[in-house]
Amino acid sequence: MEIRVNAFAPDFAGAEICPSQNFGERRDNAYIDAIILHYTGMASGEAAQAWLCNPDSQVSSHYIVHEDGRVVQMVREADRAWHAGKSFWAGVTDINSCSVGIEIVNRGHDLGYDAFPDSQVESVISLTRDIVTRHNISGERVLAHSDVAPGRKIDPGEKFPWGRLASAGVGHWVPPEPAGEDHGLCEGDSGEVVKSLQMLLFRYGYGVDTDGTFGEKTRIVVEAFQRHFRPERVDGIADRSTLETLSRLLTALPDAA
Ligand SMILES: [Zn+2]
Repeated sequence: MEIRVNAFAPDFAGAEICPSQNFGERRDNAYIDAIILHYTGMASGEAAQAWLCNPDSQVSSHYIVHEDGRVVQMVREADRAWHAGKSFWAGVTDINSCSVGIEIVNRGHDLGYDAFPDSQVESVISLTRDIVTRHNISGERVLAHSDVAPGRKIDPGEKFPWGRLASAGVGHWVPPEPAGEDHGLCEGDSGEVVKSLQMLLFRYGYGVDTDGTFGEKTRIVVEAFQRHFRPERVDGIADRSTLETLSRLLTALPDAA
């Protein structure tokens, strides 16, 4: 049986419409206060869009941005799309209810992981800027899927140009401190220094235990942090550059004063 989904007017003026029925209501009167960026991780943009609109997939996102810059909306922003899955940020676990999800066409780490083309990045900037303005979303809540689901997800990955978005006024970002040769904190370490690293990551929003033990979970969160904010080296080791970049970010938060 063919299932027909009603078309709707785009929330973003430049978007084409391809309705997906994979959505529900935002829960507990949650309102939109975050954007989650993904990559599609499939062989083609067409295949990814078809999958996000296929009722069997049980996944969706509000938008997909193709490599040529075309923006297609699949779920109304008012509705809850199914893109984040099990997730956590700044105390909230139902990220789908409070976010707009954007899938960016890219084959991903398993299929070659190309650079994001300029036309596509420009469209992501226009789209996110529009959403941020309409919903009054603060910069530090424009996030990667890997930020809210570390260990489970690594998209959109270390090649995503967060610095370019920041230059265009989208997101929260500081130029990373270049990686050095210091030993840093790593898996197996413990004590007050580890605890203070965990506290800083947690304060920024990451889901990490603050138990003073640098185990696998902490390494995975350090990797997620690096993928977004210190992409030069994603190794899960909290070296001086990682710590310095993290503390600069915290200092640059709007309410840090
Ligand atoms: Zn994702």
